[in-house]
Amino acid sequence: MTTFDVQQARSLLLEERDRLVHQLKELGADESGELTGELEFGEGFADAGAATAERTEVLGLVESLKTQLDAVDAALARIEEGTYGTCASCGKPINPARLEARPESIYCVDCKTRR
Ligand SMILES: [Zn+2]
Repeated sequence: MTTFDVQQARSLLLEERDRLVHQLKELGADESGELTGELEFGEGFADAGAATAERTEVLGLVESLKTQLDAVDAALARIEEGTYGTCASCGKPINPARLEARPESIYCVDCKTRR
């Protein structure tokens, strides 16, 4: 059985974090998922309905990026605590293959499926 390299997971997670924060910024939101600055919706749209649809889409994207960012932060917090690699729910070791595929996993497959 191979042991998953926590330092490698940490650098992957930090890279992922940078990528997510960058994407949030491009959408005009900060790390907490709050929209910063005034977004210019409306220009180039034929009507307010289209602008509203665009805004809803952006908010949906921000929401989904924020969810991913929270998962990355939770995994990083577990690395700091020294509990990374064990399930946050049942405490059993998480399959290293799962961590390699999704370093932000904090639940084992069983617990994740049950949620
Ligand atoms: Zn579990």
